[in-house]
Amino acid sequence: MLRRGLLWLSERQRVFDFVRRNRLARGVARRFVAGETVEEGVGVACEVVATGIAVTLDLLGESVADAPTARSACEGYLELLNRMANAGIAVNVSLKLTQMGLDIGEDLCDENMTRILDRASEVDGFVRLDMEGSDYTQRTLDFFAHRLHPRYGNRVGVVIQSALRRSAEDVDRLIRLGARVRLCKGAYLEPPSIAFPDKRDVDQNFVTLMERLLLEGTYPAIATHDATIINRARALAGQHGLAEDRFEFQMLYGVRRDLQTSLRSEGYRMRVYIPFGTQWYPYLMRRLAERPGNLVFMAGNIIREGLSRS
Ligand SMILES: Cc1cc2nc3c(=O)[nH]c(=O)nc-3n(C[C@H](O)[C@H](O)[C@H](O)COP(=O)(O)OP(=O)(O)OC[C@H]3O[C@@H](n4cnc5c(N)ncnc54)[C@H](O)[C@@H]3O)c2cc1C
Repeated sequence: MLRRGLLWLSERQRVFDFVRRNRLARGVARRFVAGETVEEGVGVACEVVATGIAVTLDLLGESVADAPTARSACEGYLELLNRMANAGIAVNVSLKLTQMGLDIGEDLCDENMTRILDRASEVDGFVRLDMEGSDYTQRTLDFFAHRLHPRYGNRVGVVIQSALRRSAEDVDRLIRLGARVRLCKGAYLEPPSIAFPDKRDVDQNFVTLMERLLLEGTYPAIATHDATIINRARALAGQHGLAEDRFEFQMLYGVRRDLQTSLRSEGYRMRVYIPFGTQWYPYLMRRLAERPGNLVFMAGNIIREGLSRS
């Protein structure tokens, strides 16, 4: 119920306009978001890289409704690629196709993606297409398989959500294509007709898909903070003698830093997803929806701030 409410709120622009002006909410966002500017995003990325953990940077934005905004998001990514290359860190970014104009037109989206992927090729970078709500699953996979992967190969990758019933078939197709897949549980509210309503089924499906990707996929990314699932991945890798460079773990900035560090020190490849930018509200709401404890954290901050003022 709480999760549904928070996910509903995540799509309300008016609430965002209000929240963005609120200093406390901005403070809470800083736990999960590395700031609002490209300097701040790349600065945090450099600090993480210095600890031996790899990064992917996300210039936040989604559901763009006009061409100038989509082009400006594209310019933002071009600047981000340049800044990462100049900072001397491996260039790796994550983006959403609706941010690049998918809702306005596939050709506009293609034009923006071509500019980004051409530049990524010049700086030996990698671009991951984040997966959005289920209205976009087929369109994202088609765009990836028909427009981007044939031209850019594994310089571009995609995401699969274990919450969706269709994902086993999608994983099969992507394995046949030799594509790079990030596997996650899925952050969006979906109807039971297409998604597993019971979290245990989402977790079980994650394990099933993860096993397929680890054994037959191309450098899969296991994106979860779920310690039980991570242990399954480690056990499977050990059982099948999979070298550490055949896959990577991924986690979100601000979540389970302890686990990030311990996996890294055990020799596993670990990548942290670092979002930044002014459009942080929907992202923050999805993180709050995942874990009620985060709301307690937010309430604690507000109370502390209130007490220190009185
Ligand atoms: C690198 C990365 C990329 C992602 N990309 C996408 C994407 O493209 N599309 C998409 O739909 N989703 C994406 N997600 C989000 C994902 O779908 C889940 O919503 C999110 O990761 C929580 O699921 P979990 O696997 O960690 O498992 P859960 O079962 O939700 O959580 C397991 C444990 O992790 C910890 N935890 C999880 N979330 C939080 C949190 N917000 N705050 C504090 N602790 C937490 C808690 O200890 C919890 O008990 C991504 C996640 C990661 C890590």
